[in-house]
Amino acid sequence: MQTKMDLKKSETEELIDKAWQGRLERDDAIALYNIDPITLFRLADSMRKRAVGDYVTYVVNRNINFTDICIGDCAFCSFRYNEGYILSIDEILKKAEEAVERGATEVCIQGGLLDNMKLEDYKMIVTSIKDRFPSLHIHAFSPMEVYHAAKTSKMDFRDVLKELKKAGLGSMPGTAAEILVDSVRSKICPHKLSSDEWEDVIKEAHRCGIPTTSTIMYGHIESIEDRIDHILRIRRIQKETGGFTEFVLLPFMNKNNALGKIAGRRCGVDDMKTHAISRVLLYNVINNIQASWVKLGLNMAQISLLFGVNDLGGTLMEEKISKSSGSKVGEYLSPDDIEELILKAGRIPRRRDTLYLLV
Ligand code: SF4
Repeated sequence: MQTKMDLKKSETEELIDKAWQGRLERDDAIALYNIDPITLFRLADSMRKRAVGDYVTYVVNRNINFTDICIGDCAFCSFRYNEGYILSIDEILKKAEEAVERGATEVCIQGGLLDNMKLEDYKMIVTSIKDRFPSLHIHAFSPMEVYHAAKTSKMDFRDVLKELKKAGLGSMPGTAAEILVDSVRSKICPHKLSSDEWEDVIKEAHRCGIPTTSTIMYGHIESIEDRIDHILRIRRIQKETGGFTEFVLLPFMNKNNALGKIAGRRCGVDDMKTHAISRVLLYNVINNIQASWVKLGLNMAQISLLFGVNDLGGTLMEEKISKSSGSKVGEYLSPDDIEELILKAGRIPRRRDTLYLLV
């Protein structure tokens, strides 16, 4: 006769089998999220090992946030109007130059939405950097910024993407995704593009040959089901286009923003379960699962390497967005520091470029 214990065990084993076969659906994913954490962590770590081995990658890059002025009103934003600055092209070039001097292969450029900023202005940023530093990879402009450029320039976003690519855009951050569930978006970023619009811009970028990252901002008012729906949407898009380079987990930072006043408190186990379930649901679909050391903190980012994560993102040099919302770990991690963190987790550090070629 089968006991309750046996039944539970066999259900868990069935979920694990489905995970390895890439057959997990929504209900399975929710059940897997709720099994005992150690089982989930072990599964995620085995999948990480099978997918990418023991290498942990990072990129030497620099963020350039060209303005903090924004017509948006996202409830989670602590960055908007902190200083009220707009960088000139010369100032942007100076930052790019500093990045090159420190060995960066990438600049990541994003900014607030200026009501008069048109496609030509976005292109000017790209071409100015490309003219001066032809080999520097430009990873820039979220789907929201592309959407905004299309609106201010009265153009189709498809043409905006083509023009940016022609100007030298190498890839795009898959930010502005937050949680791709409209009932959540209507509360946390009601004036941002909808989930379907985000997906349209991303898929078109992939069709144009612009790879993007994919992201999730979790740990505020969304439910576990919302997180699962978000990750499954990312999985579906990747199966269609193959254009995502990585999945980046961005824990919500609750300081100096309206959402922080109503959001629940994040906890370490939940952080790690979210990283682990991402590895499991994206197994064989997106190989690179990235933890954000700026947002998680160095210790938790290092621990995440044991729970499915294989990439620690960039060394950064400058980080305004997380800092304004409460990050205390600083704005720069040297390659030596990042490698030490990886080695102490028993993994092998590898420097990569934006598109995951080892450098
Ligand atoms: S998150 Fe971006 S779009 Fe939203 S208010 Fe902040 S700067 Fe503007």
